[in-house]
Amino acid sequence: MRHLICLFLFAWAGAMAQQTDTTLVPKIKDEGLNRSQVMHILHMLTDVHGPRLTNSPGFKKAAEYAKQTFEKWGLENVHYDYWGEEFGRGWQLKKFSLSAVAPVYFPVIAYPKAWSPGVKGTVAAEAVYLDLKSESDLEKYRGKLKGKIVLFSLPTPVKPGFEPDARRLDEKDLLELANSGPTESFTGRRFVAPAEPQRLAWLKWELCMKEGAAAILEASPSFRLEDGTVMVAAATVPYPPETPFADRLPSRSAQAPKTLPQVVVAAEHYNRMVRQIQDGLTVRLELTLETEFFPAEQGFNVIAEIPGTDLKDEIVMIGAHLDSWHSGTGTTDNGCGSAVMMEAMRLLKSLGRQPRRTIRIALWGGEEQGLLGSRSYVKRVLGERLDKTFPYDSIRLTPAGEKFSVYFNMDNGSGKYRGVYLQGNENARPVFREWLKAL
Ligand SMILES: [Zn+2]
Repeated sequence: MRHLICLFLFAWAGAMAQQTDTTLVPKIKDEGLNRSQVMHILHMLTDVHGPRLTNSPGFKKAAEYAKQTFEKWGLENVHYDYWGEEFGRGWQLKKFSLSAVAPVYFPVIAYPKAWSPGVKGTVAAEAVYLDLKSESDLEKYRGKLKGKIVLFSLPTPVKPGFEPDARRLDEKDLLELANSGPTESFTGRRFVAPAEPQRLAWLKWELCMKEGAAAILEASPSFRLEDGTVMVAAATVPYPPETPFADRLPSRSAQAPKTLPQVVVAAEHYNRMVRQIQDGLTVRLELTLETEFFPAEQGFNVIAEIPGTDLKDEIVMIGAHLDSWHSGTGTTDNGCGSAVMMEAMRLLKSLGRQPRRTIRIALWGGEEQGLLGSRSYVKRVLGERLDKTFPYDSIRLTPAGEKFSVYFNMDNGSGKYRGVYLQGNENARPVFREWLKAL
């Protein structure tokens, strides 16, 4: 994987500063291109230990694999970096299946949400579509949901896709990207999912909970719905709309109020069930859902180093998040990034040369729940933002933060490195442009 060389050069250039030693380049190429281990590392993180939901057994096994691998390579200061604050419970899926058995049989493409409770044995139940336009519609369903499997969301419109799965950026595209200004995500604009009015959503949840529905099914949302992708995140813990967000506990919290078993269904299959019900047919489902919870504990990152010499306190850091969601093997997001960063450390170590600056790797936990591992690390080790909005001009650094050199993060999916995102840091633009000339 040629793009590794690029990353490696960045880290090495950072660690050596003005005195880039070009005699090392052939060695880097030889090791990276002829004895690469990156695909084996990726295989271990995904095929063997995936998925890696934070604090799940898969995450812990992957972290232990990474730690042992760093030790085997002779990296130093290899350790788990505990956040000092609780993450919540671990969770894993033990067994799952969902089938429609009437009016016709079909196996349903569906995935349970993370931290969803399970059901006892196999539940055979009628599906009820909660077809609510307003609060007054609630009455139609009162007394009718006990033991039922509830189709909770609206159907998701499925449109044909006319865009190719992937498109290679040409030189013009890349130059346009290189010359563009800060993107919307760095200027405070965020995507807000079009939600049903909060109050109605709460009343629907309240009704299902009070009545004792067996499970909640939702259609995979249209946001990012591409070619059958099913988008699955964490189980919802319903709260009345007046509850401040700061007071709401996520489903991973040991103190979270009870919630119902929750499953996301591929839009096409969900829509089919809704159409059958709207046609007056009785849809019967069979659901098996066995999940396992583990005691709440703090989260952690995995750290390792190649120590520097005279400038060892000027840390050059690389990293990626090790955690994933639970319905795939966490390859693109972000097994690839973790494997590339691990291989970069192996290549650097294989040179047998000590850099002037310390090169440190971090594999973060809790990224998918809001960058928890890296935020915790920055706060404990490097410093704090004093103003909370872009462009974050006011930062209080720790003594370690004052000396910190640079951090390279990889979480942009798979494929070759064709550039480096500035992540809102304008000062890096001329530096990266200069580096990329050689590539
Ligand atoms: Zn990611």
